[in-house]
Amino acid sequence: MKTTALYGGTFNPVHFGHIRPILEAKGLLGVDRVIWIPNARSPLKSGVGLASGEQRLAMLDLALADYEGMETSDFEVSRAGASYTIDTVIHFKEEFSQDQLIFIIGEDSLETLNQWREIDRLLDLIPFCVLGRPGSKIQVSGLNQTLRDRLQCLETPLVDISSTAIRQRVGEGKCIKELVPAGVQTYIAANGLYRD
Ligand code: ATP
Repeated sequence: MKTTALYGGTFNPVHFGHIRPILEAKGLLGVDRVIWIPNARSPLKSGVGLASGEQRLAMLDLALADYEGMETSDFEVSRAGASYTIDTVIHFKEEFSQDQLIFIIGEDSLETLNQWREIDRLLDLIPFCVLGRPGSKIQVSGLNQTLRDRLQCLETPLVDISSTAIRQRVGEGKCIKELVPAGVQTYIAANGLYRD
């Protein structure tokens, strides 16, 4: 049986803080493929400075081309409005009904997890795996036992990079070479993203 991990996010833009921990998690979990799913719009984030879904997907394709077992999906960006993980998971459970599925999040996502639509049902539908993130206000250890029991935590490299910091650096005309793959850096410059 194949194991497929789903990794959702805004990816505005994708960066090494996404890529490095996921590469490690892929090995630790024995995952055959990771499907990266950019959202159309996060219900929990402001849309200011948001590159289009097409652009964020293009950057993901550029970033992941050199890695094995990394795929992208336009499932959320091709649908208008806010993206809810519950709908996405139901879709992929049908599409990959033969696979074992797992949903991966970064530790900072725990801050808003209780606001996710139908979170109890979602946690029943698919196992969640949490990767550490520097500066996260909530640690798994601080969660109540019931929730903690439903999450698998992995020790992956802590990479202190955020899309917010990248957008800010681009806006200030600073270099982002160490923060994103070369193809993403070129794409951002060529398309004039995040300049203001
Ligand atoms: P922004 O700064 O715009 O809020 P972000 O850098 O947090 O964006 P997202 O695309 O919102 O990136 O994150 C998608 C997923 O990746 C989330 O589950 C998030 O927790 C996780 N993630 C993002 N950056 C890191 C990081 N540096 N380390 C671990 N996980 C991360």
